[in-house]
Amino acid sequence: MSSTLSTLTLDRCAVHTRTNKPWSLARCCEAYCSRGIGGISVWQDAAQAAGMGEARAIIESNGLRVPAYVRGGFFTAHDAADRTTALDDNRRLIDEAGVLNAEMLVLVVGATPKLSLAEARAQVAAGIEELLPHAESTGVKLAIEPLHPMYADDKSCINRTTDARAICERLASPMLGVALDVYHTWWDPAHEAEIEKLGANNQLFGFHVCDWKQNTGHLLTDRGLMGDGCIDVPGIRAMVESTGFDGMIEVEVFSESYWASDQNSYLDLIVDRLGTHT
Ligand code: ZN
Repeated sequence: MSSTLSTLTLDRCAVHTRTNKPWSLARCCEAYCSRGIGGISVWQDAAQAAGMGEARAIIESNGLRVPAYVRGGFFTAHDAADRTTALDDNRRLIDEAGVLNAEMLVLVVGATPKLSLAEARAQVAAGIEELLPHAESTGVKLAIEPLHPMYADDKSCINRTTDARAICERLASPMLGVALDVYHTWWDPAHEAEIEKLGANNQLFGFHVCDWKQNTGHLLTDRGLMGDGCIDVPGIRAMVESTGFDGMIEVEVFSESYWASDQNSYLDLIVDRLGTHT
């Protein structure tokens, strides 16, 4: 696999609204647009706070692309009734993604304590299969995001790219692929081979960047910005782009310390790190 790294221009980058959690959707759009950032990935609470129609208008008036609406999934449950409710929620999220012109709905697939991982994985595949016709009819793609194994208790029973890709292979829909987040996948010995296979099958839909801090202080909300930690983000980007990936590079950083900082300075730092450490 080639490791050529192209120049990263900001019009190919998106920032996830959760990265600048203290800001409203409107403030995010205005700030990203002013820096020349080309896209915005939207967390559902940011859009719902604005109202879906207004959210779409705000995004359109700033000329931003929306690679992803986040997040659907959570298919697993002990009771069938709860799984049905989850599917209804996902259909609504697909509709909301459609309103925003989002290219994909990201799926954090779920895991349920005291439900075996094997059963949870079967429920996830069944849930996605049931959801696919709705995705196909609305034109919103579904992207399974494998999560780091530390979340296998209650957030995701799909922890390796291999397992996400296996569901894609089985369901064989052009609307189903994988969102690859360096935070969750960088440790995987099969990383490069999996990226290559996803690319060859047109199943690599999303690419999320951030960093893994040594001595991380919180499993959810102490992510680093590219360059803060130990992930070779440029190396992984080179792998991703060697597959022909032409989607947006999405900056997704959940960090209490960055949220507590001045968001304008932080966004300037994000732009800097996109240039120097991505
Ligand atoms: Zn992600």
